This record gives sequence, C-alpha cells and structure tokens, in this order.
Amino acid sequence: MSITATIPLDAQGTHHGFLKLPYSRDDSAWGSVMIPITVIANGVGPTALLTGANHGDEYEGPVALQELAVSLQAEQITGRVIILPMMNLPAFAKGTRCSPIDGANMNRSFPGRADGSVTQKICHYIATELVPLADIVLDFHSGGRTLDFLPFAAAHILDDKTQEASCMAAMQAFNAPYSVRMLEIDAVGMFDTEVESQGKTFVTTELGGAGTATARSVGIARKGIRNLLIHAGILAGDLQTDPTIQLDMPDDTCFVFSHDAGLIDYLVDLGDPVSANQPIARIWPADQTGQQPVLCHALRDGILTARHVPGLVKIGDFVALVAVVSETQ
Ligand SMILES: [Zn+2]
Repeated sequence: MSITATIPLDAQGTHHGFLKLPYSRDDSAWGSVMIPITVIANGVGPTALLTGANHGDEYEGPVALQELAVSLQAEQITGRVIILPMMNLPAFAKGTRCSPIDGANMNRSFPGRADGSVTQKICHYIATELVPLADIVLDFHSGGRTLDFLPFAAAHILDDKTQEASCMAAMQAFNAPYSVRMLEIDAVGMFDTEVESQGKTFVTTELGGAGTATARSVGIARKGIRNLLIHAGILAGDLQTDPTIQLDMPDDTCFVFSHDAGLIDYLVDLGDPVSANQPIARIWPADQTGQQPVLCHALRDGILTARHVPGLVKIGDFVALVAVVSETQ
C-alpha cells in the first residue's frame, strides 16, 4: 500500500491530517501528493464517508466539507465521520475535471490499482481502506466547468432492492430541491458503482455547476450533510425537510447531444418544462453570418435538468438532460 494516512482512522476525537501518496517528479524527487482528511469519532456507531472534488472543478462538496471539518464536534456525534473534501487533490488544485498528472477521470477509475497511476492509487486506497469502514457514503458532484444542473441528490436503481431502498431513503433525507432516481450513461469505473458493489448505502449529488458554487448550492450541501448524518444515526436532531420534486431518468432518451458545432442558444432554462420534439436549443454558426441555426430537440417530455456551459459547443457535446417529474413531496 503506497498511500498512508498521517492520522489514525479508528481513534476517538477529531484528527486532521493527510493521505500521503509518494509521487516522485521533476520538481520534487521525493515528493508526495497530500490529500487532506479529517476523521471525527465518538463512541460506537455507524461510519459516514463524505467526499468532495472527485472531479476537481466541482465546489459545493469541498466548501461544505471544509466547513464541516472545523464545525462538527466529536461530542456531537455517535460513530464516525470521515471527511475527504478534495479526494482528487491533483485535479482540485488545478481546477480541472481530470487529473493533470495522469489525465484520468477519477470517477471512471475505480476500483483503481495499487500499482497504477496516481489516480488509480488514490481510487484503490479509497476503495479498499475507506469504503469498507463506511456504512453510508455521500459523494458530492456538480456540473464542473462544462455542465450546469438543477440542484439534486440522486440514488441509483440497483438489482438489490433492499439496498436500493436504503439508498433512496438516504437521498430523501438529504432533501435537495430535486431528488433523482438515476440511470447512468456509463456506470463502469464510477465511485458510485464501487461503493454500491460493497453493499453500502450511497448518495450522490449534482448541485449546480458552471465551474463555481453559489450561496444557494452550498446551503443545499450544508443542509444535506446534516440531514444525512441525522438519518444515519450519527448526529442527533430533527431533519430539516423542505419540498422536493422527484425526478426519474428512465432511459437514454433523457439525454440530448449536439450533432453540430457552434454557438449554443438555449430556448429554455433549467427547470422549465419541455415536451418531446420541442426545440430546446439552437446552434448558430460560430464562424460565419447568413446561415440558419440548427435545432436541438427534446426526445421526451420532462423538465430541463442539466445543460451545457459555456457558450460554444462541439459536435458530440452534451446539450440537455430532460428528466421526468414523477411526484412532488
Ligand atoms: Zn462530478
């Protein structure tokens, strides 16, 4: 195991430290990647693993988890909270989705390899040393620099319906403004898939995007963490519950991709209702005048749940996620 924790993972009280990964390179022959970690433990109880910056350009998780690491007191909890605000530290430090060291997308690199690249080693450590300790795992995402989302918590449709129910209940406890029963485009290599394969309760989020976080999106993260820890039996108190809109992503007609390159002109905004075959965006030429735009159409009825940012698209880019409203609670 090339990664070592500089703090005990099983000691009572609060410990702030690092996961230390030796990484020899031109500017530091015996250097290390230092991934910040906080472990807060008190008594005997469940363990929650809370992670941010799986993708390095998504900020609600890092902000809310940094706050949690300095505000949560050991005597307030029963059990253990393991906090990794920047699990993909190299990407986070660079402000990029993927690691600048090996180019890897962390959320396509699980379960990782002990003898692999930097990203693979981080994934392997988390999958084999941290996830097995956890009863419940919350992994924060948002859209990063090229997507923007309605703020939602999500759980996956799973073969094990008991586990699925546990994940859905935890998602409802998180109580984001939107709650999604999620279908992934490609689940291979995801942290989600690794955690679920170990039988754990897993919740993920998409809380915004466009390369930043807002007061509102961080507030959703902050409330969601507290609710999740109460739901898990780690923190005492009452859930703060606000109305949430339930969304389904039944199949791949939820996704619209660009068949052209150019200047994108959205005709609807996040949260707006759309119907099948409705034009949801136009793509104008970016290099000449006098040409009509190409239309992008919704493939099903629903609401616009995610969109592309910033203003230019390439052929093959994601344009829209249209999710289906199932109920409002
Ligand atoms: Zn992400």
